[in-house]
Amino acid sequence: MIAEIITVGTEIIIGSILNTNSKYLSNKLIEMGINPYYHTSVDDNEERLKDVLKIALKRADLIITTGGLGPTQDDMTKEVVSKVLGLELELDTGVEKEIAEKFKKLHRHMTENNRKQAYKPKNSLFIKNDNGTAPGILINTKSNKIILLPGPPSELIPMFEKYVVNHLSDDNNIIVRSINTIGIGESALEEELRSLDIYEENFEIATFAKDGTVEIKIIARGSNLNIIEKKLYEKINKIKDKLGNYIYGYDNKHISEILIELLKEKKLKLSLCESCTGGLISSIITKVPGASAVFDRCIVTYSNEAKIQELGVNPKTLAESGAVSEQTAYEMASGLLNKSNSDIVLSITGIAGPDGGTGEKPVGLVYMCVMNKDKHKIIKDIFSGNRTSIQNRAALRAMFEIKEFV
Ligand code: ATP
Repeated sequence: MIAEIITVGTEIIIGSILNTNSKYLSNKLIEMGINPYYHTSVDDNEERLKDVLKIALKRADLIITTGGLGPTQDDMTKEVVSKVLGLELELDTGVEKEIAEKFKKLHRHMTENNRKQAYKPKNSLFIKNDNGTAPGILINTKSNKIILLPGPPSELIPMFEKYVVNHLSDDNNIIVRSINTIGIGESALEEELRSLDIYEENFEIATFAKDGTVEIKIIARGSNLNIIEKKLYEKINKIKDKLGNYIYGYDNKHISEILIELLKEKKLKLSLCESCTGGLISSIITKVPGASAVFDRCIVTYSNEAKIQELGVNPKTLAESGAVSEQTAYEMASGLLNKSNSDIVLSITGIAGPDGGTGEKPVGLVYMCVMNKDKHKIIKDIFSGNRTSIQNRAALRAMFEIKEFV
């Protein structure tokens, strides 16, 4: 099924609000195996909204609009959709009564504008709004399904999840699984996937890159649930066999949560010393509820002096190898292991840029050392992007390396 999401509102077009409704609805539709091929945004203008709707009716089976269902003059989505479809608006006396009662409860006067919300296109259905006054509307024509939803996410999201999803599922079973990877680029990953015998009709396999991680999303469809489950399992296993080294989790669970769970399970305490990430890894880890059970401390040692004073890094190492070097990362980690009572530590030092890079040590170069009392591992990588992106990528990779080391 091809879907188009039309977000209506001048606020979106002039950039006053971020269009999060399209993002939310797209994610949901993809999970349900519906293809949201088009996103359109249009301001509160009757002619332009008409044009947009006419185009959508030709190219999409399912059209979802958001916004413009309220009582004011510039809220016109329902009226314009009715005009374009040639459907009269009729009063639903039941809904009129409900709206009147809501106003009575609030001791507010119900105006003619409010009554406008009790009208719906002929043969359409109202969708209940548990969190606001404007109900959604579902229209089924011969060739299209059109769903009108309110603009505020606090109204749209519960309405979609409670009432709309049921209208969108068909007899087909759909299973969506994600495999989350790190440490391999999207194109290299795709090449690896292409070399596996996993592609077939009814199994959509797509990759999505973010902050140095790549999600492999598999959407499986079919009438026989057992068969698609079995096939999906086989495909995931093939991917695991080939790319297991890069997989850190499934179904978009954050690496920090996976790491905390693992450390809890193994009853291990973790400490960090961060230079180029300035406490970012610690900040991500401490966002996970229950992190205190496994996380001891983070020392941010940004300057050379801090590395010497707090972690006992040898000044000679800093002078000879530099702050961003394998040896410094190693000495930072050993210093922290001695100082803390932790079972496992990680140090990180690098050049987040935009300045400070050289031919030999470019911007993005990062060394990490993960260590316990028996062994250690040095990781060297060059992360791309701007300062924030280098820091984010390095932080995610650090958590992955700790998880692998444990
Ligand atoms: P209301 O009954 O509240 O007027 P409505 O259906 O008429 O609802 P709009 O008036 O178009 O919706 O938008 C109301 C508010 O909803 C906006 O001010 C904005 O905060 C939020 N909103 C609208 N569209 C979007 C969108 N695409 N993404 C995120 N938020 C949105």
